Amino acid sequence: MEVILAEKCGFCLGVKNAIMLAKQTLAQKPNVYSLGSIIHNQQVVEELARAGLKTVDSVDDIASGTVLIRSHGATRQQLKRIKEKRLDLIDATCVLVKRLQKISHMLNEDGYKVVIIGDETHPEVQAIVGYADNVAVIGTEADLHKLTGHGKLGVICQTTQSPDHFGRMVGEIIKKGFTELKIINTLCREAIKRQQSAIKLCKQVDIMFVLGGLNSANTKKLAELCKKYNNMTFHLQNWDELDKSILCGKETAGVTAGASTPHRVIDEFVEKLAAYDTD
Ligand code: SF4
Repeated sequence: MEVILAEKCGFCLGVKNAIMLAKQTLAQKPNVYSLGSIIHNQQVVEELARAGLKTVDSVDDIASGTVLIRSHGATRQQLKRIKEKRLDLIDATCVLVKRLQKISHMLNEDGYKVVIIGDETHPEVQAIVGYADNVAVIGTEADLHKLTGHGKLGVICQTTQSPDHFGRMVGEIIKKGFTELKIINTLCREAIKRQQSAIKLCKQVDIMFVLGGLNSANTKKLAELCKKYNNMTFHLQNWDELDKSILCGKETAGVTAGASTPHRVIDEFVEKLAAYDTD
């Protein structure tokens, strides 16, 4: 089978940095904790757990030691608790997420109601919410009722949303007649490049695979976008999850992967798929 790999896929700079900091910290210190999974990829989480990284849900689960903040960032409340408990802190928050937190704070200081276009259950969004007092999270059109009145809105976006979705939501917000809208583009260029190359590729192939954690927001977004253009799109974590019967009669396959998918998972998938006999 002919297999084409997307021009841009796999680990982004933010994820690479978080993994590097985790490895460095584990080599230097005992009792290292990650607040939530370090990245949304089970294999990497298990590998780092074997090297000693303990994953906890709450700062209250840590008696002493070092806390590693993942690339999604931490909430203000969590950072306050870390300080109160005098724990060591290693901050792997992606610079783009930090920028988003600063912008949210700045908009709040300037009197804007902060509107975050994104998924309110995602840790990155939860880490931004606390940086403003007056804030609303808009996932879809169904959440627009949260925006009432006529004041000033400062609109920002979760880094891994698609430009189309951000644009569509902004268009809907404009219709609500607020007196002032300040829109700041906080989308991640790395994520956009992955989305663009995935869309380009999925249109050329018989079948499309999106590799990455089932709970990874940017991988889910890639799969969702590819599905729009190629109905034969499958979101898998690795080669073992592939139901080989779907390959029957297919000549070309495209492969892309989320920003938290290790290259060895991508390489293994591509190699095995290329060698697979579909006759
Ligand atoms: S996808 Fe973008 S915003 Fe998210 S961690 Fe990677 S570089 Fe940072």
